[in-house]
Amino acid sequence: MVSAMDVARAKRVLLKLSGEALMGEQAYGIAPEFLSYLVEEVQSAIALDIELALVIGGGNIFRGISGSANGMGRTRADQMGMLATVINGLALQSALMLSGTEAVVQTALEMPRVAEPFDHDSAKSHMKQGRVVIFVAGTGNPFFTTDTAAALRACEIEADLLLKATKVDGVYDSDPVKNPKAKRFETLTYHEVLTKNLKVMDMTAITLCRENHIPIGVFSIFERGALTAVLRGEPKATIIEERKE
Ligand code: UDP
Repeated sequence: MVSAMDVARAKRVLLKLSGEALMGEQAYGIAPEFLSYLVEEVQSAIALDIELALVIGGGNIFRGISGSANGMGRTRADQMGMLATVINGLALQSALMLSGTEAVVQTALEMPRVAEPFDHDSAKSHMKQGRVVIFVAGTGNPFFTTDTAAALRACEIEADLLLKATKVDGVYDSDPVKNPKAKRFETLTYHEVLTKNLKVMDMTAITLCRENHIPIGVFSIFERGALTAVLRGEPKATIIEERKE
């Protein structure tokens, strides 16, 4: 059985933050007060002496699927979505730097005057030197999501753990916001997530983590201190991993 303590041994962690996490109470864009809150959460996490990288989404600004629903070609719409993640990454980097935490943005779509190009070796080197690395522009390819980008980057930087920040404190058998009787899972296998069609991350992301043995922790970013609690091994997340005998 997977234990939260296994998670506590993680030294290099990839945190997936959706764009929505930056909106706070707003319906769109970036809420400055929520950005400050995120900075505090990230700073508490790195104080635990872990190497931290982030993949940030763009759903608070633009999603390719909605652009293509309005008649735009999907590839162009997804490029706009990827650019939205760049905006979020730059906002988070600035907020971290202003608070005294070194942070670097690496992008999958090259824009040399704005951010470093993605490179797994230099990302690891930044992390070893205590910098937070923010990966933006997803995978650089249309038809993918930032969840898949998070799984891919986690594999590339050889992360011990992928943390998926959500609105609730783990994975439930139905939407806990709509169903007060929804049951929360302490642990799940990748297989269970796929076969029960649980809405955690897309199938590509789950499969990548499964094939590369990267456990996934699903936790609430809206609960202050939950990120560090998960990293300390407290049962504040649903852990997805292959079940050990
Ligand atoms: N996107 C893409 N390729 C990727 C990652 C993202 O084309 O590898 C685009 C896609 O249009 C997506 C948008 O970027 O809708 C924003 O990413 P996502 O929806 O995953 O953001 P989140 O829901 O995490 O805020």
